Amino acid sequence: MIFLDAAATTPVRREALEAMWPYLSGEFGNPSSHHSLGEAAAAALAGARSAVAKVLNCRAGEVTFTSGGTEADNLAVKGIALARQAADPSLNRVVISAIEHPAVEESARYLERVHGFAVDVLAVDGEGLVSIDDLRAAIRPETALVSIMYANNEIGTIQPIAALATVSREHGVPFHTDAVQAAGWLPLDVKALGVDALSISGHKLGAPKGSGVLFTRGRLRVEPLIHGGGQERARRSGTENVAGAVALSTALRLSHAEQPEQAARVSALRNQFIDQVLATVPDALLTGHRSHRLPSVASFCFPGTSGESVLLELERLGVVCSSGSACAAGSDAPSPVLVSLGITPETAQTAVRFSFTSTVTDAELEQAAVAVETAVGRVRNLAAPQPG
Ligand code: PLP
Repeated sequence: MIFLDAAATTPVRREALEAMWPYLSGEFGNPSSHHSLGEAAAAALAGARSAVAKVLNCRAGEVTFTSGGTEADNLAVKGIALARQAADPSLNRVVISAIEHPAVEESARYLERVHGFAVDVLAVDGEGLVSIDDLRAAIRPETALVSIMYANNEIGTIQPIAALATVSREHGVPFHTDAVQAAGWLPLDVKALGVDALSISGHKLGAPKGSGVLFTRGRLRVEPLIHGGGQERARRSGTENVAGAVALSTALRLSHAEQPEQAARVSALRNQFIDQVLATVPDALLTGHRSHRLPSVASFCFPGTSGESVLLELERLGVVCSSGSACAAGSDAPSPVLVSLGITPETAQTAVRFSFTSTVTDAELEQAAVAVETAVGRVRNLAAPQPG
């Protein structure tokens, strides 16, 4: 099987598994306990926090461990907007882009539904890019937060985060970015990016599902979503997932160290794959930006097919990929991300996303490109009216 669905999830790296194992077995303590087992767990958690902080170029106290990317996004969007509103009741708007992951979009909609916020949605161009001028125009005195993703999970387009964050900062508005897909592939230095908050998910980069991180800058206040014993500096109560945090920090550290080399290698393979698919299926439409895209994502529409049928054929041919985001999979609605690019709902139904782990090989992608040609051909033959 050739696994080309890494944007949905990745296998746990051996190093991460080995690093977490002691905290699931012998060193199973609760970090809040005042005995040696608890102290060992607390030390492991502190070590994991420092390792994450090193990659993000921030202080350990600015790192909050969460149950994943979704929780990190929820905590950022709701937690920052509500904390700012508590300090200044005139703040009642948030700005997001039209192609955010539901974890951000639905958090903004929650603020609208339950707390009376207005949500300003920035359109994207045909390649999925947000305009810096549009952001400048959208920010108002009442804006509590801007949240724009670093790289999109369906089309891979990378936003100019540093420039967008600068605009936000000029207006004194905190800037959050969902870096769930970017982590492992793009630089994550929060000082260089100039962001005030950033979300990461462990299972996209070789740590287990159910581990995540939210960075929040300095004294930026965050209203907690989960109340209890005051863990994670009261930003996120609940006994900490020590093993998950250790695994995430290990996978993040390793992928960060490997990143420049792997990003260059996989980008080159991705470009070859894109060229091969466009050459053998000439009417295929590459979605997203040609160059400002994640090394790991190649996404297409194949007009005259259905994305789900192409997926089934590809799986028969030994290639596993996705018709869009894992969250939207199984839903009949066309992808809102693709529709935001100006793609018709009919064409959006023909989308297939290929996303790569850092260990993908040349041979795998060559074989996959051949399978794409075969699968699209088969689906089109089946759809064509039969003679007689
Ligand atoms: N944000 C983006 C861009 C994602 O791609 C995902 C997962 O697909 C998430 C957030 C949610 O992360 P998690 O699966 O860890 O909840």
